[in-house]
Amino acid sequence: MVNESMLKLGTNRSCIRELFEYGLRQAAIVGKENVFDYSLGNPSIPAPPEVNEAIVDIIKNTDSLAVHGYTPAPGLPDARAAIAKELSERYGVEIRGANIFFTCGAAPALIAVIRALNMGESEFIAIAPFFPEYRPFAESNGAKLVAVPADIPSFQINWAALEERINERTQAVIVNTPNNPSGVIYTRETLERLAELLGRKSAEVGHPIFLIADEPYRELAYDGAEVPFIPTVYPNTIVCYSYSKSLSLPGERIGYICVPDWVEDSATVFAAIAGGARASGHVCAPALQQRVVARCAYSRPNLAAYDENRSLLYDALSSYGYDCVKPNGAFYMFVKAPGGDSVAFSNKAKEKNLLIVPGNDFGVPEYFRICTCVSKDMILRSLPAFQALIEEF
Ligand code: PLP
Repeated sequence: MVNESMLKLGTNRSCIRELFEYGLRQAAIVGKENVFDYSLGNPSIPAPPEVNEAIVDIIKNTDSLAVHGYTPAPGLPDARAAIAKELSERYGVEIRGANIFFTCGAAPALIAVIRALNMGESEFIAIAPFFPEYRPFAESNGAKLVAVPADIPSFQINWAALEERINERTQAVIVNTPNNPSGVIYTRETLERLAELLGRKSAEVGHPIFLIADEPYRELAYDGAEVPFIPTVYPNTIVCYSYSKSLSLPGERIGYICVPDWVEDSATVFAAIAGGARASGHVCAPALQQRVVARCAYSRPNLAAYDENRSLLYDALSSYGYDCVKPNGAFYMFVKAPGGDSVAFSNKAKEKNLLIVPGNDFGVPEYFRICTCVSKDMILRSLPAFQALIEEF
């Protein structure tokens, strides 16, 4: 009666959602203050004030029919131009409004790009740890997701494993830096080496192997860490950007795809992406939000609270004996599960109402993820539970 794989996707809850909902049920029993929920990556700092000011101003001073009306499929020309201008100035490149396609966040952006590049069971490579949704995004669109095991403990790239997996069916490698869940940023050296490998392999297989840069966390970098703009390192890069985390707007569903002119056959690639978005019913991203992000193109989040949480958790957990990956971006920390089995450890943690996400779905079952976008108060209350847990192991 219904499509089996869709039914499976719709009924098999994600482990993160399950934990989050478990936390809500537990809070009703033991009290909210006794549940330490590190499951969900929902920003915990508000959108910068100019974002709300822009929303109010646009609603008050723009014709209502225009604000709420359909826009052209890729977005409003002025808004696309504003995003392109900011990128061009920031990275010293020439990006035009015509290179920007507004989307409802990074997720539909990734789907449109995968649909555009899939030639029929094409392979898309994801480097562990990776966002678990890449798999349904690829597989439900007739493509194959090929996982490369993580390079532990640096969480940069396992070169031999990546090279081994590239073949003539490979259409793209998806990278996510700053990374969810490790918090690691790929260094310029890593990206240059990746560019060299993909350039060499593209020549070998006789077609371009694209890099898909999944970038919801581009603005979330600490200690002055550099987040290179990947299209300047590897020309055949397609950027999928989102304002969900950078401006704390996940519920507004706004982001964009950028296909620079220097991508091989960029006009064809862009047109195929427009087709991919159309085929998924994802054109004309929210009209109000297109205007808002265009006005706030130069806004940056105030990262002080995330940075404080990051140091607090890293220092405390390390001092208890946990082996933590030092995050220098995003708002997650990846921690080695004592005993090596993150599912068992996460279940044990649940007994203390500590909700941490096992790394299995991210392709690294030995590690668990904690979100650092939580309140400092909750972190302080949760530390005795972290300490007791490792002592028990
Ligand atoms: N990619 C990564 C790595 C993410 O962590 C997320 C959301 O958490 C997304 C994509 C989807 O982001 P959006 O809310 O913009 O669709």
